[in-house]
Amino acid sequence: MGLEVIFLGPPGAGKGVHSTKLSHDYGVPHISSGDMLRNCIKSGTPLGQLAKSFMDRGELVPNSLVIAMVMERIRKPDARSGFFLDGFPRTPEQARDFDAALAGEGRPIDLVLYLRTSQDMAVKRIAGRRVCEQCGRIFHIVNLPPKQNEVCDGCGGRVSQRKDDLPDTVLHRFEVYEQQTAPLVAYYQKRGVLREVSCDRPFDEAHVELDALYRDLLAGRR
Ligand code: AMP
Repeated sequence: MGLEVIFLGPPGAGKGVHSTKLSHDYGVPHISSGDMLRNCIKSGTPLGQLAKSFMDRGELVPNSLVIAMVMERIRKPDARSGFFLDGFPRTPEQARDFDAALAGEGRPIDLVLYLRTSQDMAVKRIAGRRVCEQCGRIFHIVNLPPKQNEVCDGCGGRVSQRKDDLPDTVLHRFEVYEQQTAPLVAYYQKRGVLREVSCDRPFDEAHVELDALYRDLLAGRR
């Protein structure tokens, strides 16, 4: 049994790598709204076609589309007893709608892990970030390069830079984060579920703290 957990933080905070690691360690699904949307684009679904223009510009995809997509995912059997959500919710409207939907199912959010990161650090991380086009595994050209240039260690897929990680779009994504997502810190603080972890430091140090927060809460629920 797991907990219902949200990862919150600016682009480049490390939401993807940290939530993936905890997901492997605890056997609880990692659900990334960005990965789901990228998969829809790859498969050419109507949602993907709609989402692409927003994503390429660093804008958010309309709330109604994303909420429906995430709700469908977290109702699948593997996510019924917990999940690590990465990149959702991203606006107060998404958070309110999500809370209402979860309350209706008697499974409120247990923990919001806020990965606090300076813009300087995040910009450096994003500049070096490379992602497998096939399985979404995240690499970094300096800190975590693939063993073979541009080839994913896990699945052999092509490793490349996300189009929205290019400098102009990244700056706009930070603006969007400040305007639309940052207010969620206060929102979840008020609800008493937010825990802040500094991510302006090496991955392992932040991971130990995130793991302890998760493990302690999990132990308290058993
Ligand atoms: P990410 O992989 O989380 O950085 O997301 C990449 C892009 O996908 C974002 O810049 C948005 O265009 C879109 N996206 C991901 N999650 C959401 C969300 N919860 N609401 C709206 N758009 C999203």
